[in-house]
Amino acid sequence: MSLSEQVAIVTGASRGIGKAIAIRLASQGAIVAGISRSVESSKSTLEAIEAAGGKFFPYAVDVTSEQAVTAAADAIAEKFGRIDILVNNAGITRDTLLLRMTADDWNQVIQTNLTGAFYWSKPVSRHMMKSRRGRLINIGSIVGLKGNAGQANYAAAKAGIIGFSKSLARELAPRNITCNVICPGFIDTDMTSVLSDEIKKKVLAEIPLKRFGKPEDIAACVAYLASDEGSYITGQIFTIDGGLAI
Ligand code: NDP
Repeated sequence: MSLSEQVAIVTGASRGIGKAIAIRLASQGAIVAGISRSVESSKSTLEAIEAAGGKFFPYAVDVTSEQAVTAAADAIAEKFGRIDILVNNAGITRDTLLLRMTADDWNQVIQTNLTGAFYWSKPVSRHMMKSRRGRLINIGSIVGLKGNAGQANYAAAKAGIIGFSKSLARELAPRNITCNVICPGFIDTDMTSVLSDEIKKKVLAEIPLKRFGKPEDIAACVAYLASDEGSYITGQIFTIDGGLAI
């Protein structure tokens, strides 16, 4: 599954799932442009990839700024001559029950998790169309499939990612660009570390495989979809959750 000389953009590459995706794609030979809100936050990703002899270029881009995203996508295409893979992974949560949810809680989560994917997909697919090849991989969540009390904003954004991705899959298929969604379950990262031990215990009891996922579990699926092996897969949802959503 070599990705030699392919150019990948991974948003939210500074830690957690995005970091594991960046490391995995680079280990298979891709040149990875990693996006986070500051270059410093991606330092540990850069060090891990460089230590393994891979290529990683950190960019500071807030995915909620259309102007900044478009400028970065064009700069990356200009620098490396192409963009083959886009992984829309950057995400946040602002969990609270509906009656306490502010418009800001709602807008921040929709802007980062859903609108950010739109901002990136548009300029990147324009570059992919020129080379008549591309892989768009969007990170959703099982919460977008099942809903979750206290996460109406996040569930709406992640469900939105599914409709968005299926539409792009249809629209871009004639240009040989695929678009798929990966819906992780409970993955051990900073995002989930803030949850109480009580919640973690409850979730764990519901996971048939009896363990939380690792960021690398998600990265493996991204690598497969990005490779030549994944060329006939589009518009699909891959649930990687140890069986939690069965
Ligand atoms: P983390 O909180 O560990 O990392 C989030 C990443 O997103 C960081 O790299 C952060 O960069 C980046 N980010 C956040 N906001 C922005 C922004 N406005 N602009 C640019 N980058 C931004 O999250 P996870 O690794 O846990 O989650 C990654 C993805 O997987 C998310 O989409 C999440 O919803 C999804 N997911 C996670 C699950 C889990 O159990 N962990 C389960 C299901 C889905 P920085 O702060 O450095 O700028």
